[in-house]
Amino acid sequence: NSSLHELDPEVAAAVDAELHRQQSTLEMIASENFAPVAVMEAQGSVLTNKYAEGYPGRRYYGGCEHVDVTEQIAIDRVKELFGAEAANVQPHSGAQANAAAMFALLKPGDTILGLDLAHGGHLTHGMKINFSGKLYDVVPYHVDGESGLVDMAEVERLAKEHRPRLIVAGWSAYPRQLDFAAFRRIADEVGAYLMVDMAHFAGLVAAGLHPNPVPHAHVVTTTTHKTLGGPRGGVILSTADLAKKINSAVFPGQQGGPLEHVIAAKAVAFKVAASEEFKDRQRRTLAGAKLLAERLSRPDAAEAGVAVLSGGTDVHLVLVDLRASELDGKQAEDRLHEIGITVNRNAIPNDPRPPMVTSGLRIGTPALATRGFGEDDFREVADVIAEALKPSYDAQALGARVAALAAKYPLYPNL
Ligand code: PLP
Repeated sequence: NSSLHELDPEVAAAVDAELHRQQSTLEMIASENFAPVAVMEAQGSVLTNKYAEGYPGRRYYGGCEHVDVTEQIAIDRVKELFGAEAANVQPHSGAQANAAAMFALLKPGDTILGLDLAHGGHLTHGMKINFSGKLYDVVPYHVDGESGLVDMAEVERLAKEHRPRLIVAGWSAYPRQLDFAAFRRIADEVGAYLMVDMAHFAGLVAAGLHPNPVPHAHVVTTTTHKTLGGPRGGVILSTADLAKKINSAVFPGQQGGPLEHVIAAKAVAFKVAASEEFKDRQRRTLAGAKLLAERLSRPDAAEAGVAVLSGGTDVHLVLVDLRASELDGKQAEDRLHEIGITVNRNAIPNDPRPPMVTSGLRIGTPALATRGFGEDDFREVADVIAEALKPSYDAQALGARVAALAAKYPLYPNL
């Protein structure tokens, strides 16, 4: 019954240091967020001890009466939140949700159409050494070099030419909304399934601030830890007729025992996501990203070689184009890290630099909105970033402005 600090001071020290890092810096990695204490409490609960292979009411283990309750609550809440006919809340992660969904809909060797990784797609949408690229015949589609928008004419042309069994719509680094109705029309024309991976923008959808893909897609996958702000994990939503296939693809197809402690935490996160407070947070997330795009598109930013891909954003992130800057993606990431802002370098379409260096940054606002940031704070942080990306910058002064913003919104004050 020892505490973590008593039993394992080495691990405890690293956990404490990570808490301090999160509290004292500004988190702007677009895929990250801060889970509420109640979510972490559920995730750190005794539910971690329980084996529960199967589904609520149909388990392969005894003693599942309480995890049946939490899992059923999670299923009911997420169906309600997104208006879905069926939900599987067991995937351990977004990648596993995608693997299971593809396993349910495809046979090895089938053709899939997905957004190229280098143009904003995810590894699981057909990257060569990912399971998706190894198991399936992948035809990548792209964004238009001029507009930065997904080239729907290319999607249609490739679909007609290759007759895929599945079209994947969704992204990890793309600052605009997708036309789900157009994707579905194309899928129907060629007899393909449409799967939307809304991992990044699910929180915006839940808040009604982004079109909902559920009415258009056969299957919608998501993570629960990005804009949704819950525990790390995945979910698969589908039409009722596909539910059986998907459940069986998750278990026993891909996984053994579900993480019932995480599923309980997902249930809590879905409750939060249906609240007015959550809507307000997503509104501030969007407003912050728009302010960031606007500040990084000004003449002084352009003079420093900084530009914003697609000219702005409709979502929670901005993609910064550094091709004309003296900084590459890695250097820009390091520069912001130096003043206390965490972002990730990101390849931009047709990037002249290698993937470990890149010519871009992906900057997101969800975590800061969760922390409480409003428009004035986002304006300030955008100005700090714009200043930091200039050839001459005052690291100390900018670091002090970052520290002041972090101090203004204490994170996890009782931990
Ligand atoms: N799908 C998209 C669009 C993502 O951006 C990500 C994560 O970055 C995933 C799936 C995978 O999620 P996870 O990291 O939980 O496996």
